Amino acid sequence: MFANRADCDTVNPMRHLPAIIVHGGAGADPGDAPDEIRDGIRAAVLAGWRVLADGGRGLDAVEAAVRVLEDAPRFNAGRGSVLTSTGTVETDASIMEGDQLRCGAVGAVSRIANPVTLARHVLEDGRHVLLVGDGALQFARAVGMPECDPADLVTERRRRQLDAATADIKGTVGAVALDRQGTIAAATSTGGMSGKLPGRVGDTPLIGCGTYADSALGGVSCTGTGEAIIRAVLARRALDILRDTEDPDYAAHVAVDLLVEQGRGEGGLILLDAKGRIGYAQSTIFMPVGWMTPSFHEPQVPF
Ligand code: ASP
Repeated sequence: MFANRADCDTVNPMRHLPAIIVHGGAGADPGDAPDEIRDGIRAAVLAGWRVLADGGRGLDAVEAAVRVLEDAPRFNAGRGSVLTSTGTVETDASIMEGDQLRCGAVGAVSRIANPVTLARHVLEDGRHVLLVGDGALQFARAVGMPECDPADLVTERRRRQLDAATADIKGTVGAVALDRQGTIAAATSTGGMSGKLPGRVGDTPLIGCGTYADSALGGVSCTGTGEAIIRAVLARRALDILRDTEDPDYAAHVAVDLLVEQGRGEGGLILLDAKGRIGYAQSTIFMPVGWMTPSFHEPQVPF
């Protein structure tokens, strides 16, 4: 089921008017604690918007928005992540800015409550794009990130889902922002797929698959079956479609069609173009989204 184009604010013609859009995953069950989902999305949009409204950077805005959702146990990221087949939490995250195409990502990370911030450290450090597993944890220690007991990231809800063999639960979170300087940034964070094998890394930390930002074009954050998103190289391809069509919402829909037909999986994505116009689409029943632009007095959370 696709979102209705008329639902979007597509009129934000000035290049440097800020905008932000966030998502809470293309697998969320709309009937399961919808208020928690709505509150989380709203809080995330506001956290990012405060940064942008103060003239702050897109990178800070998407990091702030994603951290809110990592901290909210209802979402599949940070605390509240889905569990591996052995009952542990292993998270993936990435962040990118579209001026210099600087990016940072982490995969299969445990003990870190806010993996998006660890990905940001990788970006700022600049030596590498992607760190995984123990190496990522050693890097986290070196940059002084707080470490938590792995059990603190495991919630009762996720344990029940694993016991009930409710595999394939999706719910990644992500954000894309345009700041007043005209920079696009994007970030995505996830616990992955419920019941995944330990060591499995999905699309989220793979730049061009789960996340991409190019200030000349726009930014994308994806959610859904990671293996399918990787096959479709979805985030970058969505921007190529945007370049050819100049219609963010149409580009989002065409990209999701590619995910289904070529990637052979389900999911969705959010997209923001260089003018701050938003687009989103999903092939699943539900993908909570929220956004804010100067056209509104408060976050738009249409569900
Ligand atoms: N894309 C994520 C992954 O495969 C899952 C999700 O979007 O919920 O790791």
